[in-house]
Amino acid sequence: MSNQTLPLTDELHQYLLDISPQEPDVMRQLRAETARHPKSEMQIAPEQGHVITFLVRLLDARKAIEIGTFTGYSALAIARALPEKGGLIACDVNEEYTSTAEAYWQEAGLADRIDLRIAPASETLQILLDAGEQGSFDFAFIDADKESYDTYYERCLALLRPGGLVMIDNVFRDGRVLDPDAHDESVRAVARLNAKIRSDDRVHVCVLPLADGVTLACKR
Ligand code: CA
Repeated sequence: MSNQTLPLTDELHQYLLDISPQEPDVMRQLRAETARHPKSEMQIAPEQGHVITFLVRLLDARKAIEIGTFTGYSALAIARALPEKGGLIACDVNEEYTSTAEAYWQEAGLADRIDLRIAPASETLQILLDAGEQGSFDFAFIDADKESYDTYYERCLALLRPGGLVMIDNVFRDGRVLDPDAHDESVRAVARLNAKIRSDDRVHVCVLPLADGVTLACKR
């Protein structure tokens, strides 16, 4: 027995999936198609999808937002846990990647719950704030360009209701956050945000060693 998080071997990873809820067929197909994509590493892990679906249900969320849609897997994980009248705003800048997403959302019967906004996410978030939507969202998932993570975090936090949750992906940056000499701004930006969130008294926080590291911050 270990009280440290175990290294996830391929076999243990498979076991994790085997004892997790069954992935809907359409999500399995999308994951298989995206695995052949040249930027396949941008897709979340299936176990992250399960966590997202679980959290959205737990929050009884009606309004959600995601920053970074890619081919649409995380949006499906969110949207399938929303009630019929709920809605997800999906932010991305790439119409080619998100055309795949839209096809799968249709196939899953969830397209009417997802509002895709093709624009820089910082602009979309500001438009929502200017429209008076602060405090009205239940869940936010941030998984896009790391240099803008702090802006996304601040604007998502403003959009969330008290008790709402922001989930941030890739907080380990493949372990590169450990290198104090990292010159890659995408690593430094995430490391700065990690340090900031730790002492941010606007939220309750925990960090999960899930995939490439996930931070959960619950708005007080
Ligand atoms: Ca990611």
